[in-house]
Amino acid sequence: MSAPGAAASPAAASTERAADVVVVGAGLAGLIAARRLAEEGAQVLLVDKGRRPGGRASTRRVADLGRIDQGPQFFTVRSEAFAGEVDRWRALGVPVVEWSRGHARARHVAEGPEGAITPADGHPRYVIEGGFGTLTLALTRALPAAVTLQPAVRAVAVAERDGRLAVHVEPAHRPGPPRVVAAPRVLLTAPTPQALALCEAGGLDLGETGAALARLRWGPTLSWLAVLDDDPGLPAPGGVQLEEGPVEFLADGARRGVGERPTLTAHASGPWSLARFDAPDAVVADRLQALLRPWLGATQPLAWRLKRWRYARPLDPWQAGTARVDGGGGSLALAGDALGGAAIEGACTSGLASAEDLADVVQG
Ligand SMILES: Cc1cc2nc3c(=O)[nH]c(=O)nc-3n(C[C@H](O)[C@H](O)[C@H](O)COP(=O)(O)OP(=O)(O)OC[C@H]3O[C@@H](n4cnc5c(N)ncnc54)[C@H](O)[C@@H]3O)c2cc1C
Repeated sequence: MSAPGAAASPAAASTERAADVVVVGAGLAGLIAARRLAEEGAQVLLVDKGRRPGGRASTRRVADLGRIDQGPQFFTVRSEAFAGEVDRWRALGVPVVEWSRGHARARHVAEGPEGAITPADGHPRYVIEGGFGTLTLALTRALPAAVTLQPAVRAVAVAERDGRLAVHVEPAHRPGPPRVVAAPRVLLTAPTPQALALCEAGGLDLGETGAALARLRWGPTLSWLAVLDDDPGLPAPGGVQLEEGPVEFLADGARRGVGERPTLTAHASGPWSLARFDAPDAVVADRLQALLRPWLGATQPLAWRLKRWRYARPLDPWQAGTARVDGGGGSLALAGDALGGAAIEGACTSGLASAEDLADVVQG
């Protein structure tokens, strides 16, 4: 790792000796990595630009009428490492519930529910009662004392400064002075384009690793989240995968235990979302509602919101779990679903793998 350019802006900001490790991003990968690093004896500073931790695994109230999972709807457990992590969630009292052994499948949204089938493949899909926000709140509350969590703090650059890695941060939602926090180890868990942009802003060159990570592609998603006046009557188990765009997944929150009112989450496909990413909310929502008419029948939305995910899912994720570049300023690592094989499981196992890798460096 080298620092050919000068670090980004706030030259006037004073440098704080933050911790042994600064973790940027408190989604599932960052929350789990921070906990694991602390268990290995490190003092950890965990920052996230969001007001609440959780990242894409988030649950929101819509117009104070109902709770809706706005990103992931369920997860699968395939590896021993992730099964062990899910056992920890259960031990914390997180209501992990088996939702189904196969969700409904249909070809195209225009065909409506008549052609949908629900092949049971025997593989459990799990949900979190109350929504994924219940999980991320429990993980946040259970963080060890050695982790200092600072929400609503945005990292703007990572640079080398005085033989250390220096993370330039600023308040995310209000005006305030920039700060520089220094540490010998930094872990970036934001989606890879955002993580690499921080390094670029700080003049850090990650060499071949950075070039390979920059080639990872991501797909966007526009999500329509609606509280409905009645049960939309989706085929069992209340979630439908559509093989062809423009809509790729439909889910009824009430039938996944997220809230009591009927709700619908509709995730548009990547190409459809990309083409309309900057269109006004009402234009996108009207179009999606028209497309969903065969599924909604007479059911009407009482309230809705549109969520735009620029980096929804990595299209060609790595399986390695983590990538680390060592240099004069210390060790910089990246983690997240793009490095762990995608999805909730990939994010969590990447968090674990990156922490174990960095902890070895901390101790070594
Ligand atoms: C629409 C949608 C549907 C999905 N459906 C499923 C599903 O059904 N099943 C499944 O298993 N997975 C699903 N996923 C994928 C799953 O949500 C992700 O794999 C997982 O949540 C990623 O976690 P992460 O910690 O790697 O990243 P994130 O959750 O993205 O966390 C990164 C964090 O970094 C923070 N951050 C970014 N930049 C900065 C910065 N400059 N400064 C400070 N903080 C920063 C963000 O605020 C965020 O909290 C879905 C995702 C989407 C968007």
